[in-house]
Amino acid sequence: MIGTHVHRFDVVIVGGGGAGLMAALQTSGQAHVAVLSKLYPSRSHTGAAQGGIGAALGNLEEDHWEWHMFDTVKGSDYLADQDAVEIMCRDAIDTVYELEHNGLPFNRTPDGKIDQRRFGGHTRNFGEAPVRRACYAADRTGHMILQTLYQQCIKRQVTFFNEFHVLDLIIADGRAAGVVAWNIQSGGLHIFHAKAVIIATGGFGRIFKVTSNALAGTGDGVALALRRGIPLEDMEFYQFHPTGMYRLGVLITEGARGEGGFLLNGKGERFMERYAPTLKDLAPRDIISRCMHTEIREGRGINGEDYLYLDLRHLGREVIETKLPDITEFVRVYFGLDPVTDLIPVQPTAHYAMGGIPTDLDGRVVLDEQNTPLPGLYAAGECACVSVHGANRLGTNSLVDIIVFGRRAGRDALRYIQTADLPPLPRDAADEARAEIEHFLSGEGSEPVAVVREDLRTTMMDLASIVRTEQGLTECLSRIHQLRERYRRTRPMDRGQVFNTDLLETIEVGYMIDLSEALVVSALARTESRGAHYREDFPERNDQEWLKHTLAYRRNGKFELRYKPVRITRFEPKARVY
Ligand SMILES: Cc1cc2nc3c(=O)[nH]c(=O)nc-3n(C[C@H](O)[C@H](O)[C@H](O)COP(=O)(O)OP(=O)(O)OC[C@H]3O[C@@H](n4cnc5c(N)ncnc54)[C@H](O)[C@@H]3O)c2cc1C
Repeated sequence: MIGTHVHRFDVVIVGGGGAGLMAALQTSGQAHVAVLSKLYPSRSHTGAAQGGIGAALGNLEEDHWEWHMFDTVKGSDYLADQDAVEIMCRDAIDTVYELEHNGLPFNRTPDGKIDQRRFGGHTRNFGEAPVRRACYAADRTGHMILQTLYQQCIKRQVTFFNEFHVLDLIIADGRAAGVVAWNIQSGGLHIFHAKAVIIATGGFGRIFKVTSNALAGTGDGVALALRRGIPLEDMEFYQFHPTGMYRLGVLITEGARGEGGFLLNGKGERFMERYAPTLKDLAPRDIISRCMHTEIREGRGINGEDYLYLDLRHLGREVIETKLPDITEFVRVYFGLDPVTDLIPVQPTAHYAMGGIPTDLDGRVVLDEQNTPLPGLYAAGECACVSVHGANRLGTNSLVDIIVFGRRAGRDALRYIQTADLPPLPRDAADEARAEIEHFLSGEGSEPVAVVREDLRTTMMDLASIVRTEQGLTECLSRIHQLRERYRRTRPMDRGQVFNTDLLETIEVGYMIDLSEALVVSALARTESRGAHYREDFPERNDQEWLKHTLAYRRNGKFELRYKPVRITRFEPKARVY
């Protein structure tokens, strides 16, 4: 029998990435708060973010948050909720200064201001030409953000439970009441009984075979919410970033094109000039990834194969080594090539989930079309869907999102716990988590979980990635159902409790199956093309029928879809021309 320890806090934050740490900073010193993280916090995926954080500081040329807002809405293919986008673009400016004052070592202009560079889809004067909006620290901006926030958390004595893997959300009397977690180091279940819970568990790129996401990006919090009856919003919108290292998926930041790099096809052509005459290689990611797909399919890949080249050679050694040092090293180490003299083989890589747990403007998790909140439950960061990114996120806008909405969620949770009492702890709070662990640690199973996981990732890549069809998605769904059956028969080899990563990876594959199914069911229903969701059988955007957000519920093993309207405040939907 697995023992259970009980802890009591005001607020429990699940996740030690940018969103979780930012939320923690708002509450520190004012409430009894714990941050739980399955990784040591400074290993969170925020630390892998490279290119920059967008804010209309106007340090190098004129810029305004309204322009940032317009670009974000247009980039989202008009699916983003514009009130949320407005908050994000306005607050981005203060937030970047706040990060600076907390010690973040941004690159500087010669006169000492925060330096800014170009990024995809960010323009001046409502689409005229690229603008310098991305604040950056070389190509390790996320690393610097994460270190800065973590240092501040340590300074302010935030309580961390590192290497605790959350397995369940506790909901009692229609309110959040805590979480159940597994202590990775020593085994054993822990109940964290709390008034408020903030989910900040990041994305789920691992459901695709080629991805830029770290191994931990398995969407745990998103899947746990779904299992507890919370709908998932806009899951069909999954972003592929144009420049993953060929076959590896490791990211080469868009900052490389922001500095002047460009893509080449097998005929040596700068093909993006044909597709997006104004922004060219700085068009939004959904568009470039699709163009790359077309080039490859029409035989213009390199040597007719399924990759293209990124050319940085003309930038010169100085720019490459000082402004893009990390990706330069990746290319040298993994490919044995030198970006100063060689072309870099690239292909689109699964990168970012626009969809996730639906929230309102204060990070409160909402349950339906009327945005009814579930008291005490919050979500922020990549796991959440506010929605500021709509059908396609612009580069640099996720770092803004995690900071702005991590902060708002933390503040609102602090407000909430002032008046809320501690909900009763259900006696069976840990039962489901315990049953899941015991199921995998006992009993007989034949199939290695790694095989199920790789089959899932290949299936998703082949049938539900950049280009989708009804036939492909239907096939994908039936394979996911088979994988779910096979998953039940998997057993970890390691039956111990101490550092049993085999067990935890097995549990993560369960999350990946749930999220893949939610994505495919939502994609199958949406008979139009918008942003990152491209249906070859319905190639046009259809605002008449589809200018709405999907809500996918899972009840008794079956998915049910509902829809809610998009909030439009300033910018009416138009055709997207770049
Ligand atoms: C390679 C790469 C480069 C990027 N570059 C940029 C960029 O330049 N600009 C930009 O705006 N965006 C960029 N992004 C996107 C952006 O970095 C992420 O969307 C963002 O950092 C996510 O932050 P987060 O706090 O939501 O989650 P994360 O930073 O992923 O943190 C998730 C946290 O949740 C914890 N966790 C997860 N599951 C559990 C569980 N079951 N129990 C306990 N803890 C759990 C983890 O331990 C971790 O601490 C990039 C992404 C990648 C992958």
